Amino acid sequence: MTETAPAPTAPLRARAEIDLAALRANVRTLRALAPGAALMAVVKSDAYGHGAVPCARAAVEAGAAWLGTATPEEALALRAAGLPGRIMCWLWTPGGPWREAIEADIDVSVSGMWALAEVTAAARVAGIPARVQLKADTGLGRGGCQPGEDWAELVAAALRAEAEGTVRITGLWSHFACADEPGHPSIALQLTRFREMLAYAEGRGVRPEVRHIANSPATLTLPEAHFDLVRTGIALYGISPSPEMGGPADFGLRPVMTLSASIALVKHVPGGHGVSYGHHYITPGATTLGLVPVGYADGVPRHASGTGPVLVGGKWRTVAGRVAMDQFVVDLGGDEPEAGTEAVLFGPGDRGEPTAEDWAQAAGTIAYEIVTRIGTRVPRVYVNEQQSG
Ligand SMILES: *Cc1c(COP(=O)(O)O)cnc(C)c1O
Repeated sequence: MTETAPAPTAPLRARAEIDLAALRANVRTLRALAPGAALMAVVKSDAYGHGAVPCARAAVEAGAAWLGTATPEEALALRAAGLPGRIMCWLWTPGGPWREAIEADIDVSVSGMWALAEVTAAARVAGIPARVQLKADTGLGRGGCQPGEDWAELVAAALRAEAEGTVRITGLWSHFACADEPGHPSIALQLTRFREMLAYAEGRGVRPEVRHIANSPATLTLPEAHFDLVRTGIALYGISPSPEMGGPADFGLRPVMTLSASIALVKHVPGGHGVSYGHHYITPGATTLGLVPVGYADGVPRHASGTGPVLVGGKWRTVAGRVAMDQFVVDLGGDEPEAGTEAVLFGPGDRGEPTAEDWAQAAGTIAYEIVTRIGTRVPRVYVNEQQSG
């Protein structure tokens, strides 16, 4: 988990600045969009690369009642860092730390009979009922319990465990396949299936505290999917789930991460000079090259070789040739910024810099991957840590 560090005094090779005021404002915006539901801040994978503990703290300050992670280890780390309130995790494998999760008062997700057997056994040992949320596959075709006989068997077994006092069924939930494509026919089908699976479980006597299916795109565009709780990840970090839905500003969201690096070298080269491994860029004439000291080890996608945008001295430049492990080069077209000049890879965009979405387009991926993959070698520098309204 990334939890750095006093504000740096010396210039840094590279930094990912994390604006916690933007994150808190995004939480408030999302809560206003889903006024009837509680908000779960999804902080899995180190808060999509932004740093789980500082982001979770800021989200809770701004009114997130729940925190969500994929793995139990991520959830336990949040509790160990002192985060209060409800924490839920959903990605379990056999032999996982069920007892630790139960003792840390973490809600655990169960999609099948093996998991229910493990969690009830752990609850008996712990002597505390486990908080269990049953996950339905309403059509995603990934995790979750299939409707029909499988769901009937799981619900019945969970109710037996509840009756004997080993579990409390705290939630019924599911996940969308195509919520980022508003109008996709699978959305209505999944909602119908979800209501049927809820009705079945509630008809058998399940009394969940929360029913939930909405991720960021459904929170932004589909009020009928909000139920009791919305699980927002990417929108918290100020990034739109997909460019087709609009940009973050269209939803009142502000990007939280700014990735920048300190130019390591500027030099003159003649025309016809090959640049970086494989010589996939040849200088078209005499020019200047700038060395940007971040590479694919830092999460700069190698697929952005020849395409990734960078703001240097007020101008957009493009990655010249290949992104290497630790560095890449931009053609500065004769400009001579000093070594140490800031190169901004992406940020909110209001200083004219590219955004994570621009990098996603340049690398043929989604902005989720751009921010999440920023490596541990890049220090996270937190700004606006104090809540000021
Ligand atoms: C990652 C995740 C989310 C958050 O998705 P976003 O699109 O980032 O909002 C919600 N629910 C589950 C189960 C997830 O795995």
